[in-house]
Amino acid sequence: MPDLRKVDVQFIKGVGPSRARLLREELKINSVYDLLHHFPSQYVDRQHIYPISSFSGEMPSVQVRGRFLNFTTAGEGAKMRLVGLFTDGTGTMEVVWFRRIKAIREAYLPGTEYVLFGKPQEFNGHWSMAHPEVDKTETAEASRGLRGVYPLTERLRNCSVSSRTIFQWVQTALNVYASSIHETLPAEIISRYRLVEVADAIRWVHNPPDNNSLQHARERLKFEELFYLQLKIHLYSSHRSASVSGRLFPRIGLFFNGFYSQTLPFPLTGAQKRVMHEIRSDLGSGRQMNRLLQGDVGSGKTVVAFMAMLIAIDNGTQACIMAPTEILATQHYEALRNLGAPIGINIRLLTGSTRKKERDDIDRQLADGSLHILVGTHAVIEDRVKFRDLGLVVIDEQHRFGVMQRARLWGKNLRPPHVLVMTATPIPRTLAMTLYGDLDVSVIDELPPGRKPIATLLRYEDQRMSVLQAVGRQLAIGRQAYIVFPLIQENEKVDLRSLEEGYDFVREAFPNYNVVMVHGRMKPAEKDHQMRLFAEKKAHIMVATTVIEVGVNVPNASVMVIENSERFGLSQLHQLRGRVGRGADQSYCILMTKRKIASETRKRLELMTSTTDGFLIAEADLKMRGPGDIEGTMQSGIPLDLHIANLATDGQLVQTARTEVQNILEKDPTLSLPANGMLLPNLAALFPPTADLSRIS
Ligand code: ADP
Ligand code: MG
Repeated sequence: MPDLRKVDVQFIKGVGPSRARLLREELKINSVYDLLHHFPSQYVDRQHIYPISSFSGEMPSVQVRGRFLNFTTAGEGAKMRLVGLFTDGTGTMEVVWFRRIKAIREAYLPGTEYVLFGKPQEFNGHWSMAHPEVDKTETAEASRGLRGVYPLTERLRNCSVSSRTIFQWVQTALNVYASSIHETLPAEIISRYRLVEVADAIRWVHNPPDNNSLQHARERLKFEELFYLQLKIHLYSSHRSASVSGRLFPRIGLFFNGFYSQTLPFPLTGAQKRVMHEIRSDLGSGRQMNRLLQGDVGSGKTVVAFMAMLIAIDNGTQACIMAPTEILATQHYEALRNLGAPIGINIRLLTGSTRKKERDDIDRQLADGSLHILVGTHAVIEDRVKFRDLGLVVIDEQHRFGVMQRARLWGKNLRPPHVLVMTATPIPRTLAMTLYGDLDVSVIDELPPGRKPIATLLRYEDQRMSVLQAVGRQLAIGRQAYIVFPLIQENEKVDLRSLEEGYDFVREAFPNYNVVMVHGRMKPAEKDHQMRLFAEKKAHIMVATTVIEVGVNVPNASVMVIENSERFGLSQLHQLRGRVGRGADQSYCILMTKRKIASETRKRLELMTSTTDGFLIAEADLKMRGPGDIEGTMQSGIPLDLHIANLATDGQLVQTARTEVQNILEKDPTLSLPANGMLLPNLAALFPPTADLSRIS
């Protein structure tokens, strides 16, 4: 039996070398296997015939059976059209073509019975249908039922490759090769979940006998896809834990205990305690910790990271925390120093602007081990930075760091340090299981007590005066405000201009207050300077683009106005909003938009006004936009353009696939049992080495 992955698609009758090249370039279809795995993205109903007398304006595409009475042409030149008068005995309609007029005129005969498939449209009391699919009745009968619509590209359409063309090639491939489709899942799994066998699934997904079979076929193919994705991730992480031995931190010593019993400024929340417990057991397990710590803004990740660092220090090693911006690094430094100074922890800050004398000092202390915690930006991964013994690395806001940068931190020690990745971007569980399947995930899902949720309001352009007054009231009682403008990336000049206009407007509206402006095109030093003015309350209003999404912590800022809020994604709005509500007082977020917005958009914005739960928002965002858009997924190295499964909506299947993969690997870690014999070869074919997961932490 041939391996269908090795049979070139050009050998399917009707394809040939030049269309094979098109398929390869446009749809990444190389082999017969690829063609059979190019699934329809939707299905149309070719089961029922509708009488013309039953047409209504809201119908989707439908089938009609009848005869052409005559053909006439109307219009001239480029505007010429061909009109066929069509009847089925219950009524008549006009069938209209604007292209390929000559060929069509010759192809269809008055008097012959045809089945037409198209969308009925009403003009002045007459029904018409433009460019329907036309089949002889016998042909239509032969392919009755649900028919797949295949994804295409513009170029394919221009080269006359239609959904029908693909359908026919798939039929030919199935006729010749159906018996060469091998089962890809172990028999035990197939029977446990009553999955359709692969050959049937592929046949049904292209030719569904009925809706029920189609659903079963799709379910099976989704499961298979998710199963192999999970298998890949699990093998990768077990390979890593086998090749990397973790350092054992058995001791909970003076620093940790002293801090916990005497200096800790507040009782930990239940969620913080739980996460602390998870980290402690990682560090005491002898395996290398690779943990993702998720927690909404303000949930208290810093103190958890600090206590993890204390364990590393208690065991005679050093710790390092890396942040994506100088401001964020400085804030961490200040927060950690407040926590650490009373118990004698030596903490230093290293950024691009650290002076030479200071740097030399830091280098010396790093080398002799007297420096416990180094806080910094990218500067800490420079080669000259050498630790005596780095035991724990904390990476904040990881999606801002590239894979290679993390790799360099990793390489700083003979024995790789434990890694804790912190993120405030809530990642829905199903996505986390895939994106970070090789990391353990901890979640702080509880805010410290006493926080007042941010009040979020939706306001329209014509209410701007009252919005300005509300901002003015906050300024008058000594608070500060953010005014955020979206980036419309197509044209930076236009963006900058609208930001500058906004800035001028705000200055005129608030002549008695100082206004600063920050945006991504500024030199870092200038940006830092502006931000610092705001942080030190020397400026009262900050006009900004989304650069403030991460890393500004000004608890005194109590109101944020987001202009053109309909342009932002939900998760982004949530991140932005997290810049206020950091103090004990009531804070406000005002989403500005036009009166006229699409109802979908209104729904999204209303969700923002109704909840501050980051996970709920992230789930909704994932459903609306798909995983490809979630920030950071691009760097994960995991292919998210799945063929048929959808990480947003197939959460249950992700979970099941993961459990099954874990079961199999537990019983048969090397996958050498005969029942699992197909797994490794399939995996190698699905994820060739070039598409390897290149993630480090
Ligand atoms: P984030 O998770 O956004 O990094 P932080 O660690 O900066 O949050 O914490 C936000 C604020 O909450 C800080 O001022 C911190 O001191 C405070 N905080 C953290 N944990 C608690 C707690 N258990 N009880 C009260 N306040 C807390
Ligand atoms: Mg933080």
